[in-house]
Amino acid sequence: MKKRILFIATGGTIASEVTELGLKPGISAEGLLRAVPAIRELCDVECLQLYSLDSTDIGPEHWLGMARAIRENYEGFDGFVLSHGTDTMAYSAAALSYLIQGSAKPIILTGAQKPIGFDTTDSRVNLLDSFICACSGDMHGVMIVFNGRVILGTRARKTHSKSFDAFSSINYPHIADVRDGRVTQYIVPGFERKPRFFSELDCRVSLLKLIPGADTAQLLFLMERSDALVIESFGVGGLPRGLHEAVHLAAREGKLIVMSTQVQNEGSDLAVYGTGRPLSEDPLILEAYDMTTEAAVTKLMWLLPISRSQAKAARLFYTPVNHDILAAR
Ligand code: ASP
Repeated sequence: MKKRILFIATGGTIASEVTELGLKPGISAEGLLRAVPAIRELCDVECLQLYSLDSTDIGPEHWLGMARAIRENYEGFDGFVLSHGTDTMAYSAAALSYLIQGSAKPIILTGAQKPIGFDTTDSRVNLLDSFICACSGDMHGVMIVFNGRVILGTRARKTHSKSFDAFSSINYPHIADVRDGRVTQYIVPGFERKPRFFSELDCRVSLLKLIPGADTAQLLFLMERSDALVIESFGVGGLPRGLHEAVHLAAREGKLIVMSTQVQNEGSDLAVYGTGRPLSEDPLILEAYDMTTEAAVTKLMWLLPISRSQAKAARLFYTPVNHDILAAR
C-alpha cells in the first residue's frame, strides 16, 4: 500500500519566481508537486500551504506553527515533508527536533539553491529524494534531505551559500545517502512509542560572536535583554580577561550562559586553557561541546519554558535529543 505523506510548503528559493524585486516565493505546494510527477506515483500526498516566505522571515512563531501542523495531522499520515528556504533551514530543523521528540515517523525538511522553474535546478531532485526517504521505512524524527544526503535535524548547518552542496552534518556523520532513487542508510535514529510534542518557546535567547577586543558593554547589553545567551568564543573556548566577571555574575543572577565556539568542527573544550578553565569549573555556566550553534540556541528556547531552576535547565541541556550532543560533563 502507498504511504500517505503530508507535504507542508513554507516558501524558500525552491518555490520562488523571478520578480522585479528579486526572487520571491510564489509557487504553491501543488505547483511544486506538478513539477515532479514521480512523487504522486510513489505515494499519496496531501498538500498544506502553511507559509509562503523567504526563510529569512521564518522564526520561532513559524516553528511553532510547523510543529502544530504536524501534531494536528500526526495520526493521519506516515510521514511529513516540509519545503523550506535554505537560509534558516538548519534552525528550523533544530527547533522542530526539540518541539517534536521521539517521532517514529519521518519529518523531512528540504529546499533548493535554485528555483524549481529554472533550467538548472536542484529543486526537483531534492524534493523527490525527500519523498523517497519519507517512504523508506527506517527514517525517524526530524532531518534534512539535501543534495543526496540525509542529515539529522540537530546536526545540519548551511555551509555553502551558492553551490548545490549547501548543507553539512557537523560533528556527526550524515545518516544516509540517496542516489538514483535508492537510500543507503548507515544510522537509524532512535524513536519512542509515542512522540512528545511541545508548544512553547522562549524567544529571549541571544548569540554573541566574540571578536578580538570585545568589551563587557556588548555582553551586558545582550544579557539585559535575554534569559539565555550563547557565547561563541574562539578555538576550544575561553573568554578575554575583562569578560569573566560579568559572565559569572550573570549566571548567578539566573541567566543561562552557554559557552560555545565559532570554529565549525570538533566543538569546544573549555577546560583546556586558562582562559576557559574557570568557566568550565563554574557549575552555573554551560558548555556546548560538539553541539551546533543552531541546536544550542533552539534547545535553550525549548528548555527555558519547562525548567524552573538552573539545575533543571542544565540537566535538560545536557540530555541528548535527536543526537544533538555526544560529549557532556
Ligand atoms: N533566501 C532563500 C530562503 O532561505 C534561500 C533559499 O531558499 O535557498 O528562503
